[in-house]
Amino acid sequence: MKKDENVKLTAAQAAIGGLVEAGTGEAFHTGSWRSDRPVWDKDKCINCLTCWISCPDAAIKTAQDEKKGTVVIGIDYDHCKGCGICARECPPKVAALHMEPEKK
Ligand code: SF4
Ligand code: SF4
Repeated sequence: MKKDENVKLTAAQAAIGGLVEAGTGEAFHTGSWRSDRPVWDKDKCINCLTCWISCPDAAIKTAQDEKKGTVVIGIDYDHCKGCGICARECPPKVAALHMEPEKK
C-alpha cells in the first residue's frame, strides 16, 4: 500500500477490520509528547525486566549479555511517552527508575 499520507481510502478499499497498515509506530517519534521522562540508573538496576514487560510503548531498550542474558541498556526517548509505568513498576527496594520533568 502506498505510504503517502494524502492518499484517502474509501471504506471499500480499506482492509477488513480497518487495519490499514501495521507496524508504523516506529516511524513516529512520540517522545515529543512527554511532560516527564524516566531516568534509569544502570548501577541500581538488577535486570528483572519488569519495566520492559510493563512499558506500553516498548521503549525500554534491551540487549543480550553473554553472562547475564537479556539486560536493560537504556530508554528509547524517541518513543517513550512518559507515562511513568516503568518507574512505578520497578521494585521499590531497587528504585532504578524515577521520573523527572522533561527538559525543553
Ligand atoms: S515512561 Fe512509559 S513509555 Fe516511557 S519507558 Fe516508561 S513505561 Fe515506557
Ligand atoms: S524494573 Fe527496575 S530493576 Fe527491573 S530491569 Fe527495569 S530498571 Fe532494572
